[in-house]
Amino acid sequence: MKNLKQSSKAIHFGHDTKLTQGTRAVPIYQTSSYVFKNTNHAADLFCLKEDGYIYTRLNNPTNDILEKRLAAVEGGIGAAVFASGTAAISTTFLTLLKSGDHIVSSSSLYGGTYNLFENTLSRYGIKTTFVDADHPENFQKAITKNTKVIFAESLGNPKLDLVDLSAIAKIAKTNAIPFIVDNTVASPALLNPIAYGANIVVHSLTKYIGGQGTSLGGAVIDAGTFDWTSGRFPEFTEASASYHGLIYTKTFGKAAFVAKLRLEGLRDFGGALSPQNAFQIIQGLETLAVRIKQHSKNAVEIAQWLQTKEEVSWVNYPGLENNKYYQLAQEYLPNGQSGLVTFGLKGGFEAAKKFTDSVELFSLLANIGDTKSLLIHPASTTHQQLTIEQQLSTGVSQDLIRLSIGLEDVEDLKADIEQALKKTK
Ligand SMILES: *Cc1c(COP(=O)(O)O)cnc(C)c1O
Repeated sequence: MKNLKQSSKAIHFGHDTKLTQGTRAVPIYQTSSYVFKNTNHAADLFCLKEDGYIYTRLNNPTNDILEKRLAAVEGGIGAAVFASGTAAISTTFLTLLKSGDHIVSSSSLYGGTYNLFENTLSRYGIKTTFVDADHPENFQKAITKNTKVIFAESLGNPKLDLVDLSAIAKIAKTNAIPFIVDNTVASPALLNPIAYGANIVVHSLTKYIGGQGTSLGGAVIDAGTFDWTSGRFPEFTEASASYHGLIYTKTFGKAAFVAKLRLEGLRDFGGALSPQNAFQIIQGLETLAVRIKQHSKNAVEIAQWLQTKEEVSWVNYPGLENNKYYQLAQEYLPNGQSGLVTFGLKGGFEAAKKFTDSVELFSLLANIGDTKSLLIHPASTTHQQLTIEQQLSTGVSQDLIRLSIGLEDVEDLKADIEQALKKTK
């Protein structure tokens, strides 16, 4: 199993058919809880003396297989899955940080993550400095003695900027700060941030990994590479009051973070993934490698074609040779740049709304990474709560339309865009 290539691991890893009555598909263990053999067995499970299942908020055999597969395809040592990408991200921060701590983050973020940092974590005394990630030295400049996390999206949603992961990872390492990367838009089939020095990778499984728009899910993958014993993370090296004096780095070694994330994060914040959704997401992960190739192929073709349209004022896709991030894309995403394309119309905000209302095959909705093509006008929807300056810093201009290119025949997609463009005149 360990020697398989990535796409084979996505199909087989973590499932021993001998342990599941020979079922070829991963079964759905739809249960909230597990029968203990006796009171001593139960006591040993609760104090972590023995490995085993207690309650599905903490662990579940279906979720387990998904976790092992995700860790394998990202190159980590362990993973935990969550009810959504947002639950994965918020539980990560609530597990790692306390009041007074500081985050340095790229300003190019998914709108929900931006809100979490700017408006919600700040109420708990956790402050974030947002930096322009085009210049990695900006991360260094923003670090203070309280900085406990450096955060970025590998391919920003919706700005579609690529960050120089190696350069940022080097800064994080020098400063003994963990580097957390949201790899949702790129997906593990195109990019593995751990290979470039990321310590923790987070995903919304709702997007390309699930791939069919049926189920919410999230994941956190631990590279096992961060040294928590520097003295800056006492919760990892001092006795934990909630587990009878357990010391995470002593008991779990390299897996200290993912252990704490499950034992405290899932136990106390409760954002567990349902086994039914884990099953759906397992089906998606099995075909991720072939789907993302076709999403990327369709997207680059649409991006190139949009550039020839007279109504269009600009097109943004990192696979276009004239794109600001083309060089970084050659380095980090040589096998495809995923399925998101953004563009603007000469008619601005009003034309963008008209276009969005005129497409027929594309669906107007707030999701990405489906087999079906989707679109949204962020300035009037996902980002309307932000000021215009905040919108610009996260990469949203008034005229921006975000396309999530699906797996339909690309000629049908062009025909739909063509007829909608005509209506904007
Ligand atoms: C969608 C998304 C999230 C949030 O995930 P949910 O599953 O919707 O909670 C986080 N980061 C990125 C980049 C996303 O696209």
